[in-house]
Amino acid sequence: MRISIVGLALAPVLACTPASPSLSPAPQGVASNALYMPRGVAAAFRKGTRSPDGRPGPNYWQNRGRYDIQVSALPPNRTIRGSEQITYFNNSPDTLRNPNFKFLVNIHKPGAPRGFGASADYLTSGVHIDSLLVNNQPTPWPRAETGYTNVRLPLPAPLLPHDSVRFSIKWHYDISKESGREGMIDSTTWYLAYFYPRVAVFDDYNGWDTMDFNDVQEFYSDFNDYNVAVTVPANYVVWGTGTLLNPSDVLQPAVAQKLNQSMTSDQVINIASRADMAAHRVTAQKDRNTWRFRANDIPDMTFNLSDHYVWDGASVVVDDATQRRASVQSSYNDTAADFHHMVGFGQHALGWLSHNWPGVPYPYEKSTIVQGFAGMEYPMMVNDEPYADTVFSRFVAEHEIAHTYFPFYMGINESRYAFMDEGWATTFEYLIGTADLGAQRASAFFQQFRTNGWANNPSPLEDLPIITPADGLSPFAYGDNAYGKAALGYLALKDMLGDATFKNALQEFMRRWHGKHPIPWDFFNTVNNVTGQNLNWFWNGWFFSNGYIDVAVAGADKTGDGYNVRINNVGGMPVPLDIHAQYSDGTTQTVHQSAAMWSANAKNAVVPIATRKTLSLVHLETGIWVDADSTNNIWHQ
Ligand SMILES: [Zn+2]
Repeated sequence: MRISIVGLALAPVLACTPASPSLSPAPQGVASNALYMPRGVAAAFRKGTRSPDGRPGPNYWQNRGRYDIQVSALPPNRTIRGSEQITYFNNSPDTLRNPNFKFLVNIHKPGAPRGFGASADYLTSGVHIDSLLVNNQPTPWPRAETGYTNVRLPLPAPLLPHDSVRFSIKWHYDISKESGREGMIDSTTWYLAYFYPRVAVFDDYNGWDTMDFNDVQEFYSDFNDYNVAVTVPANYVVWGTGTLLNPSDVLQPAVAQKLNQSMTSDQVINIASRADMAAHRVTAQKDRNTWRFRANDIPDMTFNLSDHYVWDGASVVVDDATQRRASVQSSYNDTAADFHHMVGFGQHALGWLSHNWPGVPYPYEKSTIVQGFAGMEYPMMVNDEPYADTVFSRFVAEHEIAHTYFPFYMGINESRYAFMDEGWATTFEYLIGTADLGAQRASAFFQQFRTNGWANNPSPLEDLPIITPADGLSPFAYGDNAYGKAALGYLALKDMLGDATFKNALQEFMRRWHGKHPIPWDFFNTVNNVTGQNLNWFWNGWFFSNGYIDVAVAGADKTGDGYNVRINNVGGMPVPLDIHAQYSDGTTQTVHQSAAMWSANAKNAVVPIATRKTLSLVHLETGIWVDADSTNNIWHQ
């Protein structure tokens, strides 16, 4: 209705204006529906680092680092001490003079920019640099005590293209008493994440990543090689990203054997019980044990340590072709009833995601689900809170494990384009949920947690385009844009393309870009390329436009073959829908329309329904694409 008023208002203006070519409608063509691109992204395409067909360009590059880290965590002393050697490789054509470093735990410093408030228990004095060598030369770090999560380091000598630089850094910080994504889960159970200084990403479309970490947006990381040694007191177990290199040094033989058995076992094995931990039957009986982990081509490493958590393990075949198994482990408080099922939930998730959606074998050797407070994914690690309802525990675990593919395997810049990882994790969460619970319950769950918020909130912040940089969004708008809205866009695409074509396009995107840093245009271009269709009208409608979901039935006109049902897209999002027709004889008919119904005209559609019967009522049903105003979804004679 609003649209027709605008049309009427424009008509007299045009009528009394002399005809002029500039007022003629723009010719329809590729240029008229080209996608908006930020200047840095457009420059990357011109430089050939990205290709218009959606592939990495002939000049694509990315930088990387080799991290050797030694860290000690010695409860009850809260001070974490670390030392690292970073060899950073500059594969770019640029000379780098002042690399940006990320000090993520500086978010605990009083005064740090943050999306939410901070309690006294959350605050610490942040990271303290004890020494810094650049290429073995002592180098001052003038901003160490004043910076927050980003610190620029002027290099004594520029880092030339295709050269490397070596940083040796010693640091310490106090672990936060309040555990969120990292910190103290209890006095003797800690989660170490974001704990080491790292070189920020330098890329081809944005240069240095200097976005503040504010606990709303997440991360953007290079693919690095890591060797990490974690020193803890005796009787503390360390769970972490990567291969545990020295199980026989740190575990008692019987426990090492059970861990080893779990790697090939379908059945869940209790590797260490609460009683084993209390009786000191688990770790080597030295004053301290140093647990050594290695992982290559991975965006990050995190660790859980505890002197009383229970340890379960099993494994699951994730690649039928090679019969490769991935380990699933869990560390938790014996009192958390749902965590006793967690390894089983993890096996199910790894197997299902590998074989169904995205249908790509789980790309790592393991996944460890830790009982904490975060509801958060890390490479090969999940930190989840316990729930009374095991269905909800499984739902959260499945979402976090789905993140393995996006952002980690795919190297997403989630700080800026969060919908590229949260949107996919939410899509996979819905698809595995449908397999677990049936379509009806999964859809109800999805609407409750992911899409009702947008439908019911008329704030214009909710309607900002999904492409809006995530670091420019308030936490609420971030939540809807990154999760529910984006998932609805991907699911509308799936509905329109059909499962086989959609899967082919998704898997081709993953083949082209895993281990790299794709941006939204690479995905849109890949789908256009793989399907041979210019879907820019769809990308523009779903990802680049302000809008919300509201369709309305305007009327139904009798034709020779039946009826033309006229449908208006009031909110503007290209959603699929079902047309339920009711006839005067009491019979009904349902006609599904994919989002393709909006390809020619984004605002108005006419859907012919062939029938010899007399139409009495039309009802539009949008399912998980929750309609903000369903009062205009019904027409009757
Ligand atoms: Zn997520």
